[in-house]
Amino acid sequence: MRTRFAPSPTGPLHLGHAFSALTAFDMAQESGGTFLLRIEDIDLSRSRPEWEAAIFDDLSWLGLDWPRPVMRQSERLGVYRAALDRLGAMGLTYACTCTRRDIAEAASAPQEGVATGPDGPIYPGTCKTAGRDAAGAAIRLHMDRAVARTGPIRFHDTGRDIEIGADRLVQEVGDIVLARRDMGTSYHLSVVLDDAAQDITDVVRGRDLQDATAIHVLLQRLMGISSPVYHHHRLIRDAQGKRLAKRNDARALRTYREAGARPADIRAMVGLTRGA
Ligand code: GLU
Repeated sequence: MRTRFAPSPTGPLHLGHAFSALTAFDMAQESGGTFLLRIEDIDLSRSRPEWEAAIFDDLSWLGLDWPRPVMRQSERLGVYRAALDRLGAMGLTYACTCTRRDIAEAASAPQEGVATGPDGPIYPGTCKTAGRDAAGAAIRLHMDRAVARTGPIRFHDTGRDIEIGADRLVQEVGDIVLARRDMGTSYHLSVVLDDAAQDITDVVRGRDLQDATAIHVLLQRLMGISSPVYHHHRLIRDAQGKRLAKRNDARALRTYREAGARPADIRAMVGLTRGA
């Protein structure tokens, strides 16, 4: 078994991150497997070396260990580019110059708002047949062509067998962005290629990413990559029941550390008793 924790170095780690990392680490340990850390820093405008250093520090303090050096997405842009080119050569991508506002305005029933899928608003298809120049544009997936190749997609998620039909992917996910204009890739494309490159067998992450899994499995099918098993865990919420956001420094691990908490206290706070 190979698990991973894949944070973005854009803010402090909070209790929700600790829960994810500890769950993935424990799962690997219990089966004699390997736990990996991966730094998801494709968003160069928001990623900071000091947040990356803080991630290493907090995770070591929690008692986690992982092989070094770690994989960093910012060092893999060529891999993402090559995959994008392959999908392009298969006729599965197109360039899109729409802004968020263009998308909202082009939606067929603006009074009802734009329907939203796991990757944001369902793209109304404005640039689909426009033959835009790819330079400086975002690259989208032709979802209808993609599902014509894959058919319904099936995967294991949190102990269940899931099947998602082609129609649902077209209507409820749509033509997702595979490469943002400012990044040359996207979370979805990178995470699929990285999990494959690291031979991850089990993806452990929060339920907030559950809906993205259909996209990840679809991309795996298109690129001939076998799917890991997915485990989506409960989210750690604050006293008001709100999901913890990275900006919520009040629940940052280092706030607890500075207040004298020990790693066992953090485990207890997120409901993990092993090692406590
Ligand atoms: N980098 C993502 C995040 O910080 C997690 C990616 C994943 O676990 O698939 O939320």
